[in-house]
Amino acid sequence: MEITSQLLTPRRRTREIAVGKVKVGGDNPISVQSMTTTKTANVDATLEQIYALAAAGADIVRCTCNEQAAAEGLAQIIPRSPVPIVADIHFHVEMALAALEAGVHGLRLNPGNLRKPSEIKLVAQEAKDRGVPIRIGVNAGSLHPDIYEQFGGATPEALVESARLELAYFEEVDFHDVKISVKASSVATMIAAYRLASETFDHPLHLGVTEAGPLPGGLLKGTAGIATLLAEGIGDTLRYSLTADPVEEARAGRQLLESMGLRERTGLDLIACPSCGRAEVDVIKVASEAQAALANRNLPLQIAVMGCVVNGPGEARHADLGIAAGRKRGHLFIRGQIIRVVKEEDMVAALVEEAEKLVAEGVEARLAARDFSAEAEAEADRAALLDLKGADANHASERIQKIRRRSEN
Ligand code: SF4
Repeated sequence: MEITSQLLTPRRRTREIAVGKVKVGGDNPISVQSMTTTKTANVDATLEQIYALAAAGADIVRCTCNEQAAAEGLAQIIPRSPVPIVADIHFHVEMALAALEAGVHGLRLNPGNLRKPSEIKLVAQEAKDRGVPIRIGVNAGSLHPDIYEQFGGATPEALVESARLELAYFEEVDFHDVKISVKASSVATMIAAYRLASETFDHPLHLGVTEAGPLPGGLLKGTAGIATLLAEGIGDTLRYSLTADPVEEARAGRQLLESMGLRERTGLDLIACPSCGRAEVDVIKVASEAQAALANRNLPLQIAVMGCVVNGPGEARHADLGIAAGRKRGHLFIRGQIIRVVKEEDMVAALVEEAEKLVAEGVEARLAARDFSAEAEAEADRAALLDLKGADANHASERIQKIRRRSEN
């Protein structure tokens, strides 16, 4: 993987806590979270979703614990889950206690709706005795009414104050295994709140834009908030809140971290050119066929689909593997070096076959096994296209001459 994370602001140092087997904060990898949408009491359906989330990149999964049946479900889910389970608690202290009894690896408490200090301290004491961490999950939409009034709204300062007050209760019982979130649906509010939280606390921060909505807007909002903070070195764990299959949340979280060089690549990164007038093939169609054919193969590669052989292999020379179209053929390349020329209709199949071999045998072996006549064939295609269309698809020199002639007249 290309190491790029050192180009970002160094990560701010936070305390380390353990959510089951996943350590959060300190130097530990930034973890990805998501939340199930099934009834927690429906053990099989919830486990099925947890497995799907784990396969898509979730390190930690949260389930609601809103009724006794949910707590009983958690007791059965936890021993069979591949990832640590956090119980989401609103309003009811007894649900927090029941979730702890069920053996959860973490709790999320909303200080906006679980307000009695005696109850908060009771949960913190019980969590402390069991070695279970708690997330103080402040949410702009359900802020404590007193704080809302005091600050004149759900401002960044109000969100951080809510977390600070909750933390003070925890400290009264000497409980410190805490992470904090200060989410808002406004990206700007959320960014400002986390910046302030990062200056105020040394606890790990759980990032998220809440109620971001359906795709694609939800993804954009989540990424705008989360990526901005990560680039500033803020954040230890994250969740995209999408109105979509939660698998999309896990996938997005994982892809964001990998694309920023903050986690090692475990899956496919399919890149493709945006296409232009020079394209020799329908790039959108080929890229989506490649995406479908490569999905679920667990290939930790960056693979490029490029619309023309004139610029494609050069523009995508950083990719592990790629294919570029030209004159009804596909030029297959590894790290920019042409290894094979195939028929246009075989482009996707050839790409998949080579991707499998590349993972199994490695770059050196696949370069050694290349078709040594391919380079010359590819160069001939490239030269023919340049002859036909010119190096300059926009006919820039011709246009410049016209502009000059116009200004002379
Ligand atoms: S690779 Fe070729 S087709 Fe794709 S955007 Fe670049 S010039 Fe256009």
